[in-house]
Amino acid sequence: MAAASHYEQSKEFPPLDSVTGGRSADLWKWLQSRRDYNSKANGLWRIHNGLYNLKEFVQKHPGGSEWLTMTEGSDITEAFEAHHPNIAYIREKILPKYYVRDADWPRESPLTFTTGGFYDKLRDRVRVTLKRLGPGPRRWTNFYADASALLFEGALGALAFVGPNVFGPGNPLDLGLGWTVGLSIGTGLIGGALVVMGHNFLHMKDNKRMYYTNIAGSSYRMFRIHHALSHHMYPNTSLDVEYPLFEPTLHFWPEMPRRKPNLLTNALAFQWFLVRSTPLFYLLKPVLWLTGTLRLPADEYLYWLNTFAGIGIRLFATQKLLGWSTVASSNQSLAYYLGISAAQVIATNTVVAAVVSIYTGNIGLYAGHHADYIWRQGDLYQPPLDFGLFQLEATADRVDVYNKGLLPVITTFGDHTLHHLFPTVDHAYHTYLYQDLAETCKEFNVRFEFTNYRDMFLGFYRSLARTNRTEHARRVGWDGKGYAGWVDPNMGTSGAHTTKEE
Ligand SMILES: [Zn+2]
Ligand SMILES: [Zn+2]
Repeated sequence: MAAASHYEQSKEFPPLDSVTGGRSADLWKWLQSRRDYNSKANGLWRIHNGLYNLKEFVQKHPGGSEWLTMTEGSDITEAFEAHHPNIAYIREKILPKYYVRDADWPRESPLTFTTGGFYDKLRDRVRVTLKRLGPGPRRWTNFYADASALLFEGALGALAFVGPNVFGPGNPLDLGLGWTVGLSIGTGLIGGALVVMGHNFLHMKDNKRMYYTNIAGSSYRMFRIHHALSHHMYPNTSLDVEYPLFEPTLHFWPEMPRRKPNLLTNALAFQWFLVRSTPLFYLLKPVLWLTGTLRLPADEYLYWLNTFAGIGIRLFATQKLLGWSTVASSNQSLAYYLGISAAQVIATNTVVAAVVSIYTGNIGLYAGHHADYIWRQGDLYQPPLDFGLFQLEATADRVDVYNKGLLPVITTFGDHTLHHLFPTVDHAYHTYLYQDLAETCKEFNVRFEFTNYRDMFLGFYRSLARTNRTEHARRVGWDGKGYAGWVDPNMGTSGAHTTKEE
């Protein structure tokens, strides 16, 4: 924070209804709302109190230009601080070149990055550890992601051949409806895991593996907005645009009217929401493109290209197998044949897309934020506003995936707190950072506990039905009341926590 303060630092996040004009899930509106708040910046980027003209720098940004083009004219303090472990170098050597003037209005977010504060100290430790470990991503993360991508592509290709003849005659390998649905579900599960693995890479500087998210029907670009720039920086607050993504199906805020107060109706509504959302979007995307409603960059259509490739492969293979004469003559014209295979491939790929959606939705929403014992804006207890301490209160970690190897972590959003604190760090490294976290927790007298999948799952539905607000700190300055969950035994040896019995 080089510049002098001309204003009162914001004390709280904006009210729940104020961002994007009232709980809107429109990501571009969300980006616009952040520009609107900083309209006096006139298109400059804000970091702490300083305004910087990064236009010349956009193309030089080692992380890729998109991060900066998306955030032009807005406050990027949190992203700037959390995405660069070597922050001191950038702050001192690069940033001053682009400084224009100071801002004279408060930042929208109240989060702080005080020198000598929790996050600052932790990041210093982590920087040293990362230096020792060498540059990411790790070989095994790459391997798992690449292998899953190959498997997914292979399975999608196979799905073009094995469908039952419900769409017409001429299927080379008719496995029947049951097997075809089973294979589609299996492919969808691989695709879901692939989206979560691609998520590891979209946080990093531009790289080819971030497209794994798109191959399985999601979008790395949208992920970067709602997840990296919004959710990661401001979890469980009005600036976290991942909340309205599920409205009106899910209501997390006790003060807002809930439509479905009971656990079972919530659970069913959520699953139905997942089943219908992605496939609908998937099926409508080309229509939206053709009508000009939705013109997206070509990489947004990778899943559709998969579908077309499936149709093409099938046509090609059948022609090789049976020859053009068979394909084109008999009772099927080429167009008719193409029609059959297209219908079948689109049908199976729609099932795949639905399963991907169910997988990512169910894994993602029980992963790290939504249980009733985790702080959320509106709770009576106000967490500390140091970025690191704030993240500790708004996230949770499942002991089920802690120290159990890389694969569970990269397919289930594991090691979630460390991932929030250092999003660009490869997931393979988090397990080496717990010691730094434990030491910093000890230094600041913070209790670091684990929860488990079952409790996160139940806590998710309890939080949808709750009417009360959390009154107690869970980690920072924990007073022994309220939720008492898992305490990792390894953390105990470093003395970073107080146990439940004390
Ligand atoms: Zn993430
Ligand atoms: Zn998260």
